[in-house]
Amino acid sequence: QAKAAGGNQVVVYAEDGAAQILRTEAIRIALRTVLQSDELSLYYQPLYEVHGRLRGFEALLRWQHPQLGLIMPEEFVPLAELNGQIVDIGEWVIREACGMLNRTGARGLTNMIISVNLSPNQLVSPDFVRSLQRILEDTATSAAGLEIEITERSMIDCGEKACAVLGQLRDLGIRIALDDFGIGYASLTYLRKLPLHTLKLETSYIRHICDQHADSAIVKALIALMHELGLEVVAEGVEHEGQLELLKQWGCDFYQGYLLGMPMQEEAIGTHLLQLQSV
Ligand code: C2E
Ligand code: MG
Ligand code: MG
Ligand code: MG
Repeated sequence: QAKAAGGNQVVVYAEDGAAQILRTEAIRIALRTVLQSDELSLYYQPLYEVHGRLRGFEALLRWQHPQLGLIMPEEFVPLAELNGQIVDIGEWVIREACGMLNRTGARGLTNMIISVNLSPNQLVSPDFVRSLQRILEDTATSAAGLEIEITERSMIDCGEKACAVLGQLRDLGIRIALDDFGIGYASLTYLRKLPLHTLKLETSYIRHICDQHADSAIVKALIALMHELGLEVVAEGVEHEGQLELLKQWGCDFYQGYLLGMPMQEEAIGTHLLQLQSV
C-alpha cells in the first residue's frame, strides 16, 4: 500500500498509523524474550539445478506469536538489527539450519547446501567466526555444506571489516553468496573485491524477463558476466514456466521460487521431494 502511494508514506499510514505503531511497539517488546519463547522457526525453500537435481535449501525465518500472529522477517529483522539482538537470533538460525542439514542427511538427502541469511551487524560482531566454527563442530556439519547469504548493504555498512570476515569464512571452506543482486546500489566493484561463490539475482529482475526486453537483456548479460567471473548464478522468485525456460536457455545454474517449491517446514520436505520425483 505504501509502495503504491509512490513514497508518500505519511499519507498512507495516516489511516492505520496508530495500529501500526502499536504493533511495532508490541513486536519490539516481544522481541526481548523471543529466544526463550520457542516461537521462532525456520522454513526451507528448495533450490534446484537445471535438470531437477536438488542443490539444497535456503533457511527463512518465521515468528509465530500467540497474540500478534505470524510475523515475517521483513517486519521484525530490522527491529532486531536496531537493538543488536539479530546477533543472537542469527546464531540460533545457523545452529538450527545446520541441525536440519544433519537430520535430512541422515534421512538420505546428502551433499545438500544450506543457505542462511546474515545481517550486516552479525557479520562484524565479535567472535562471529569462532561461534560459527563451534556450531559446525557441534552439529557435525562440513563447512562446504553451509552457504552464507549477504547483501550489498553489509559491504556498505561494514566495509573493510566485513571483507576481512568474508575472507576468513572462505578460508574455512564456507560458501558465500551475494543476495538480492540488482536492487539497491548494485556495484560491480563488489564482484571484484569479495570472495564470492554465488550470486543471487533478485526477484524483481526475474519478474519481467518474459515481457520486458530491458530486463531480459540485463539478466542474460549478467548470467554471462557472472560465469566469466567464475560465479554460480541463482535466479530467485521463479514463478512461471516461461521464466524457467528463458533462464535455462541463458545457462542460469540454479532456480528458486514458488514454481519449484514454497518455503516449507522441515517435516514437509520428504513429502515434497517424493512429489517432485513422481512428476
Ligand atoms: P531473501 O533472502 O531474498 O529471501 C527470499 C524471499 O523471497 C523470501 O521471503 C521468500 O519466501 C521469497 N520468495 C521465494 N520464492 C518466491 C517467488 O517465487 N516469488 C516471490 N515474490 N517471492 C519469493 P521471506 O521469507 O519473507 O524473507 C524476506 C527476507 O527476510 C529475506 O529475503 C531475507 O533478506 C530476510 N531474512 C529471512 N530469514 C532471515 C534470517 O534468518 N536472518 C536475516 N538476517 N534475514 C532473514
Ligand atoms: Mg536470501
Ligand atoms: Mg534474495
Ligand atoms: Mg529479497
